[in-house]
Amino acid sequence: MLDILRRIVQDINATRNLGEALNVVVAEVKAALHTDVCSVYMTDHARGEHVLMASDGLRPGAVGKVRLKIGQGLTGLAASRVEPVNVENAPAHPAFRYIAATGEAPFHGFIGVPIIRRRKVLGVLVAQQREQRKYTADEESFLVTLAAQLAGCINQTEIRQALDRLDGDALSGTLFLEGVASARGLAIGEAVVVFPSAALERVPDKDIDDVDAEASRFRQAVAAELAELQRLSERMRLLLSAGDRALFDAYALLLSSDSLVNGTLERIYTGNWAPGALRATVLEYANIFTEMDDPYLRERAADILDLGQRLLNRLHEEQTVDRQYPDNAVLMGEEISVSQLLDVPPEKLKGLVSVRGTGASHVALLARGLGVPAVFGVSNLPPGRLNGREVVVDGYTVRVCIQPSPALRQEYLKLITEEAELSQGLQHLRDLPAETLDGHGLALHANSGLFADIAAARNSGVRGVGLYRSELHFFLRDRFPGEEEQTTLYTRVLRIMDPHPVVLRTLDIGGDKPLPYFPISEQNPYLGWRGIRISLDQPDLFKTQLRAMLRAGSHYANLSILLPMIGSVMELREALALLDSARAELEAEGLVVRMPRLGIMVEVPSAVYQIDALIRLVDFASIGSNDLTQYLLAVDRNNDRVAKLYDPLHPAVLAAIRQVVERVRAVGKPVSVCGEMAGDPAGALLLTAMGVDSLSMNLGSLLKIKWLIRSIRYEAAQALLDEVLILDSAAAIRDCANAFLDQHGLGGLLRIGK
Ligand code: PEP
Ligand code: MG
Repeated sequence: MLDILRRIVQDINATRNLGEALNVVVAEVKAALHTDVCSVYMTDHARGEHVLMASDGLRPGAVGKVRLKIGQGLTGLAASRVEPVNVENAPAHPAFRYIAATGEAPFHGFIGVPIIRRRKVLGVLVAQQREQRKYTADEESFLVTLAAQLAGCINQTEIRQALDRLDGDALSGTLFLEGVASARGLAIGEAVVVFPSAALERVPDKDIDDVDAEASRFRQAVAAELAELQRLSERMRLLLSAGDRALFDAYALLLSSDSLVNGTLERIYTGNWAPGALRATVLEYANIFTEMDDPYLRERAADILDLGQRLLNRLHEEQTVDRQYPDNAVLMGEEISVSQLLDVPPEKLKGLVSVRGTGASHVALLARGLGVPAVFGVSNLPPGRLNGREVVVDGYTVRVCIQPSPALRQEYLKLITEEAELSQGLQHLRDLPAETLDGHGLALHANSGLFADIAAARNSGVRGVGLYRSELHFFLRDRFPGEEEQTTLYTRVLRIMDPHPVVLRTLDIGGDKPLPYFPISEQNPYLGWRGIRISLDQPDLFKTQLRAMLRAGSHYANLSILLPMIGSVMELREALALLDSARAELEAEGLVVRMPRLGIMVEVPSAVYQIDALIRLVDFASIGSNDLTQYLLAVDRNNDRVAKLYDPLHPAVLAAIRQVVERVRAVGKPVSVCGEMAGDPAGALLLTAMGVDSLSMNLGSLLKIKWLIRSIRYEAAQALLDEVLILDSAAAIRDCANAFLDQHGLGGLLRIGK
């Protein structure tokens, strides 16, 4: 069964639209179960109907005609119960309805399995048998597994069809797509779709206009790959036996054969772009080989897939060179990587939209740092169809609007102007302290990591950088930057901010931030080799960075060093020992080292419980609420499937933060928060009430949070904190905090529009 499942899924991936995909499913399931009928009903929630969308076994005319009211019949029962309905003698079941539109005598054996995606019923997969038949438990599991797989495909294709309709409508129609998380703000721009150099199977389809140019692009990639294979084969002549080298010849043969190349070209000529055409062709041929009896030939499927991937990489390579961006680019993709984002000139980047990712992913942080609105987790976004279209990124309602109508466009432009006016209206706060109405003050600092944002921070009157993510600089290189290069960089950062404090964080790579030139492939990257763990295991890299920081700090007195991901006292001691040895080396070289203030990030739960022991060894603590939330709640900050569970206002996270703030302040040391929570209005409100010494956030939020702090009374915020700490859910706490902000005339921080 597993083989059949795998094959069906591959076949679905090779199809171009929902109709094709469903026809493949019904035909293959019917054959696999040796049953008389297999059908798929899609649920049209707006009309309250289950519509027969594909069938193998019912009369051809029935498709599109058979419509059941939601909940009607055994099919409706499977949907409303959200579980399989498996009935040996359907007409005897009380929920049975005879459906005249099929024009068939009743079937007896019936099994219906709901197709569900993220708690929503999309349709029902049904198999029927003329005679009485109880489908076996194995058959039921097979259908349940397939329905789960199908759910992923349907969502995408459904939207593609909506877009097809839009295309017919002279680009005047509008489509709204919901995301799960965002970076606040509003932007209108032109969609620029980026693709990961991803697995071949995940390459989407994309319509193209100039098929000849695309065909010639593909031919060039094939020619280049052939030349490369010949070169490799030549080079290996002395190293490999003729038998081993046969692989290259086999690849070259595959490339010269008609099937793979012509199959792809044919698909290109139907209007698909080369990577999509290549994916469909390669999967089709790989499937043929997978089904062969001869084990040797079966193995060739892997070669075909491998060759397909090589060709895909080649196509991508040539595409990413010197990419031109429009002036109002909205970057879109299944997943957007940090380096793809950094590739766009900041002045041209207006927004970000992705299928995957969440508000706490590093791309989201960067977007906020650059003041760019973003919407993440738009699961039914069809990026391949959107390139060049006008889109609105609405980070307030967490929606994307594709092709806004003229009236809607006007409305959005008005809101964008109002948003700019709000920011403009806050400029007078620039040089005023962040102090509550009853005189409680705290420091507001900026998060940074790029030159663009540090210079902007300085120009906006910011009085310090509370978190400098040093790894961002490492992303812009094709190798680790050396000591001189880093020293120059850190000196520049300290000079720009002098005399205000700058907290340089040591390298925090791993997790969702692998460097292109230092790939880390792990099953569970957030629980793996990350942050300080890498630094301690690669003391060469770590010491180079520490030496560079100390050298920069010898010229300027405003340096603090922050260690990420500290999870134990032992780790901290090891890091301190390396810092000490870097200092000793520099002193031996004649440098007068001025020791910076040293801090730890509290972002791993163990650090919360060991805070007393840890804080003794350092000068300050900075709470990384992004990671602390992910680790305390066991919610991957990058995974949109669980993004709804990710909220730093969760009572457990608030309790942990409060404990750290109290303990650190009890020993007279400062504590700050540098996660995204600090720039979130409700989060900043509660953190202020807890008594943190400083908040560090993206530049775009800074004046807004200052406005908030200057509009409230500390005592009232503390009373609110007491009130919310007894609530048992993040949603209730957020509602309560937002109501407080509304009461204080701060609704403009939560939504846009007057
Ligand atoms: C955090 O985890 O809150 C943090 C500030 O670090 P980063 O987001 O860079 O992991
Ligand atoms: Mg972190």
